[in-house]
Amino acid sequence: MENCIFCKIIKQEIQAHKIYEDEETIVILDINPASKGHSLVIPKKHYENLQDVTEEALKNIIVTTKKIAKKLQEKLNATGINVVNASGKDAQQTVEHIHFHVVPRYKEDGLDLWFHGRKKELNVDEIKKQIIN
Ligand code: AMP
Ligand code: ZN
Repeated sequence: MENCIFCKIIKQEIQAHKIYEDEETIVILDINPASKGHSLVIPKKHYENLQDVTEEALKNIIVTTKKIAKKLQEKLNATGINVVNASGKDAQQTVEHIHFHVVPRYKEDGLDLWFHGRKKELNVDEIKKQIIN
C-alpha cells in the first residue's frame, strides 16, 4: 500500500516511536495522544479494517494488545485501559490500515470515552429481526 502511513512506518520509511515489535505486529506511540502511553497496535500486513482483516491477523493484533495493555499498566502505573478500534470513515477511522488504540487510564484523568447516547426510540425487536434474518 503505497500511500499508507502505517505501511511506511513498518518499512521504516518514516519514523515513529516504536515500543514493541514481533513477527506480525508493531506498536507505536500515537502522535496525538489522548493519555500518557496512548499506543497503536498495528499488523505488519496491510488490512483496511475489521471488515477485511483475516482471523489470523486479528488474533495476532489482540494478543499484542493484551501484552501492551499489561506493559502500560505495569510500567506507567496506569489503573485502567481502554481498547478502541475505528473501522470505516463513519466510525471516525482516519488511517485506513487496521489498528487498535490502547489508551491507558489514570484515576481522575478527565478523559471520557464512553457512550452517552440514549436512543430510546429504537425498536430492539425490529433490529434483532433484521440482524438475525
Ligand atoms: P483512527 O484511524 O481514527 O483510529 O486514528 C488514527 C490514529 O493514528 C490517530 O490517533 C493519529 O493521531 C495516529 N497517527 C496518525 N499518524 C501517525 C504517525 N505518523 N505516528 C503515530 N501516530 C499517528
Ligand atoms: Zn498500510
